[in-house]
Amino acid sequence: MSNPQHAAPGPELAADLEARGVRYALASFVDLHGVSKAKAVPLPHLGQMLQGSELFTGAALDGVPQEVSDDEVAAVPDPASLTVLPWKPDVAWFASNLHLNGQPFEACSRNILNRVRAEAAAMGYRFNLGIETEFFVLRRDSQGKPVPYSDRDTLDKPAYDVRTLLDNLPWLDELVSAMNQLGWGVYSFDHEDGPGQFETDFDYAEVLTMADRLTFFKLMAKEIAHRHGLIATFMPKPFGDRTGSGAHYNMSLADLESGENLFLTADRAPGAVSGLAHHFIAGVLRHAPAICAVIAPTVNSYKRLVAQGSMSGFTWAPVFICYGNNNRTNMLRIPSAGGRVECRAADISCNPYLGAAMILAAGLEGIREQLDPGDPNLVNAYTLSPEELAARGITTLPRTLSEAIDAFEADPLARTVFGDAMFASYVAYKREEWESYHCAVSDWEQARYLEFF
Ligand code: GLU
Ligand code: MG
Repeated sequence: MSNPQHAAPGPELAADLEARGVRYALASFVDLHGVSKAKAVPLPHLGQMLQGSELFTGAALDGVPQEVSDDEVAAVPDPASLTVLPWKPDVAWFASNLHLNGQPFEACSRNILNRVRAEAAAMGYRFNLGIETEFFVLRRDSQGKPVPYSDRDTLDKPAYDVRTLLDNLPWLDELVSAMNQLGWGVYSFDHEDGPGQFETDFDYAEVLTMADRLTFFKLMAKEIAHRHGLIATFMPKPFGDRTGSGAHYNMSLADLESGENLFLTADRAPGAVSGLAHHFIAGVLRHAPAICAVIAPTVNSYKRLVAQGSMSGFTWAPVFICYGNNNRTNMLRIPSAGGRVECRAADISCNPYLGAAMILAAGLEGIREQLDPGDPNLVNAYTLSPEELAARGITTLPRTLSEAIDAFEADPLARTVFGDAMFASYVAYKREEWESYHCAVSDWEQARYLEFF
């Protein structure tokens, strides 16, 4: 006889999904890069799948640290994350937590974020997050070169361009409609500052929901672009002379019980945040170099975090570890609406579970220790001289992945947040990534040195 309390959540959900035309379910989780991995299950097996029947060998993936000889990890789907694929409505996707032998697997990105969420909850906070999605959608020309979809997308300053936005509507409309069909509340989208670069902005949500959505968004944008013969890329800086793709994190803490935004000042003053938010900011600034290794996780990420390097005049990306007003040169800016803090260092290649876990843990430390972030930077940080930077105590973000990983390895918070196995795995993977890059000789080097020496 079945015990209703322990009954599988499957039968009712399966019936509901069947009525909606779903035939397969995906038990999905992410690797170190935040890329979705899954097994597909025919709907009659949904009940088992929700109990964690789908097993994976971590050794086959990046950043699921396991030996070939280890027991498999099981994906335990979170029913709350159910998402029917808008472009393929016979498939349902579930974000899952990895388990090993019945216990949460320490080195799973979603579990890592859940551990820090629990810390926030114990302090009475809920972390709300909105992530701005910048990305390029390109096609390959007859030579295989990646070029914009629209032939007219040739401006030096393409930001907010209407003609090329309209040219791209066939795939953009499909993507934005899909996001809204899922209830994400897209409130604007535009052509960004690079050729073939776009941004979609949608409602903030509790951090776990937002990390699931960003993960799903990347899968969905790629699939929809692919249906149009295009490539959606989340590479941070595809073109050296154009702006890169950020994933600005818009962050606030709310009271766990009432939902009240605790980053608002008492008088809800525009452009201002509360004392609590200042402590949070100070914690993030303290750990910024280590955080950078996670929110700007690739060799290419550091080609975005420069002031020069865009034909439009600016990259709009941060270079220094500072906070301040509604000023795009700050790593952490306080938008004029007030009540939230925007981290501009994050790029769209980041694993959102790991990125959010690091930032939240650092912010909570700032609150616990009542840290003071000092004076805000109210000027164009790109133009500050080394003397002015020193006088204001402003230091530079890591300039390369190698510097960022050194900082990550040296910061005890990184090990605490990631746990020993994931920490070691992350450092090893990223060091190898850097070494592999470092051993390659680029076109730039040949052009500069071949005939020079
Ligand atoms: N694309 C810029 C970046 O890499 C940001 C541009 C903007 O502020 O929207 O962060
Ligand atoms: Mg933008």
